[in-house]
Amino acid sequence: MFAEKMKHAYPDSGFPGWFTVEKIDNTTFAISEYKHWEETHSYLLIGAREALLIDTGMGIADISGVVRSLTDKPVTAIATHVHYDHVGGHWQYRDSFFVHPAELDWITGSFPLTNEQIVGFLTEQPCEFPMGFAPEKYRMFSGPPKKLVRDGDFIGPSDRPIQVLHTPGHSPGHMCFYDPEHRYLFTGDLIYWGEFFLYYPSTDPVAYRESVKRLAPLSVERLLPAHHGLAITPEIIPEVEAAFDSLAARNLLKHGAGRFTYGKFSMHI
Ligand SMILES: [Zn+2]
Ligand SMILES: [Zn+2]
Repeated sequence: MFAEKMKHAYPDSGFPGWFTVEKIDNTTFAISEYKHWEETHSYLLIGAREALLIDTGMGIADISGVVRSLTDKPVTAIATHVHYDHVGGHWQYRDSFFVHPAELDWITGSFPLTNEQIVGFLTEQPCEFPMGFAPEKYRMFSGPPKKLVRDGDFIGPSDRPIQVLHTPGHSPGHMCFYDPEHRYLFTGDLIYWGEFFLYYPSTDPVAYRESVKRLAPLSVERLLPAHHGLAITPEIIPEVEAAFDSLAARNLLKHGAGRFTYGKFSMHI
């Protein structure tokens, strides 16, 4: 069920073989960066006349070359949130990307980490950086968005409306995206297999819990996270919700509370 893997070499990406494309269905593709420890996934949703790119990857190689090999439709980019590993390819979409107002300052130059700190994350191991990639030249994208989007808005192709859910906690303007026709839920950095980051000053453990609770009533056929295993299933949502409930009951939803492990996911608060 997890689609044929298409391991094309993408001459236009700058670094052939950096991206892996997986077909979720005929009009939905995961574009992944498995050679980096973050195992980032961006998603291309193709409609009749337009396409939507959810996240643009790490910016190590040029994702737009891969996108162009999959669609010739005009593409709008939207990041689940403004972290370097989700807006890395935005420079190819600088006239056509949307952002949540809570992270407008981050995308326009006031991100709370220095470029040095960002490169520090980027160069953590394991990573097989492509030959010729120069981390010291890496710069996080910044620029003005075409439009601000808010909770409840619909974005994407006109024949495939995608609902915006403002889900703060991992970051203030984090968004999940729901495709009601396919019942796909794009969870960004809110839910994936791995460690949830809840200890940065810009994270909010209480808001995180509320955001997870908002996902619980949705009818979800396929959960599509921004990192790690794509075999993840929607059953994880109530598990994460229960974990947050138990931490809240013990008054542990505050920074410095510690690390908590639950099977396929953990929380660093
Ligand atoms: Zn993030
Ligand atoms: Zn991320």
